[in-house]
Amino acid sequence: MKKIILYTVLIIFLMVGIPLIILGGIGSGIKIPGIINQLVDVIPDSPKDSSAGEVLKIKVYDVRKVIELNFEDYIKGVVAAEVPALFEEEALKAQAIAARTFAAANMKAFGGVGCKNYPEADACSVVHCQAWISKGDRFKNWDAENAVNYWNRISNAVESTNGMVLVYNGELARYIKYHSTSGGKTEDSVNVFNNKIPYLVSVESLGEDISPKFTSTVMIRREEFIKKMRSLSTKIKISSNNLGAQIKIIDRTEGDRVKSIKIGDKTFTGIDIRWAFSLNSADFTVKVDSKYVVFSVKGNGHGVGLSQFGANAMARSGKKYDEILKHYYQGVTIEKLEELNKKK
Ligand SMILES: [Zn+2]
Repeated sequence: MKKIILYTVLIIFLMVGIPLIILGGIGSGIKIPGIINQLVDVIPDSPKDSSAGEVLKIKVYDVRKVIELNFEDYIKGVVAAEVPALFEEEALKAQAIAARTFAAANMKAFGGVGCKNYPEADACSVVHCQAWISKGDRFKNWDAENAVNYWNRISNAVESTNGMVLVYNGELARYIKYHSTSGGKTEDSVNVFNNKIPYLVSVESLGEDISPKFTSTVMIRREEFIKKMRSLSTKIKISSNNLGAQIKIIDRTEGDRVKSIKIGDKTFTGIDIRWAFSLNSADFTVKVDSKYVVFSVKGNGHGVGLSQFGANAMARSGKKYDEILKHYYQGVTIEKLEELNKKK
């Protein structure tokens, strides 16, 4: 009789209990991630639930909700979103350390302010903070044959630099910036973010012609150009006659980007013009023909800090991750976050 009861209980458990647990119904303390991060490891609800002891977590705002991720897993998702998996190993490592430093500096647990767009999160999953993609979504965009290999490359880069961050003057380097392609020279932070940071100065960045966006061209119809300029500056005096003579680059920054440009009777920054005409960067020249205003653009992104394609070029020429990082972030050292926090 006892056996029958036992079997009945077991069968009921198999039929009802297990599906309930799988669906996350009963208070198992386990969060089943939504569609957006299907393959990300299951994350416990609170740090106390973790079997791995103290796990650093980051709250990420993605698809209108905040999700909690193990800190190092989050870094993997950033590297996966930010650079191609087939980048050189040393470039992936450099990217991992730059991403980790940025994330650590923003984390509220370390005195950061989190994401300014989503104050409830340490970071958002888009360029505003750093691009981040779940493992599941990343796998969907890769061909199935190579996906595991690609993921392993990223995973290894993050794990082999576990906890490493950039340090300046004994402190976490809190203003880490990076971008896709500098176009040959990075930019001083002061020219883009109005913030003079000793390690974010202009440096040469060679070999970037491997980037698909090393150069680009944007053509705007003359009348569209004039219309846009009038929307940027309602009092501008600009006419279609002799338009070319009314556009003049006045000066350039240390990083060769347009600092100021006179259009009509008004002066604009290169960054204003970059955004107005969706240029890849503020490093451009401009010509006018009978129909179009033609922008020839170098690089992709704001140009400050590490250039991802420049880092890959350095790695190809045999440079190690620390050499790459010390080139793009002048005067930094690399330390373990844990050690750095202990000193405080
Ligand atoms: Zn953000």
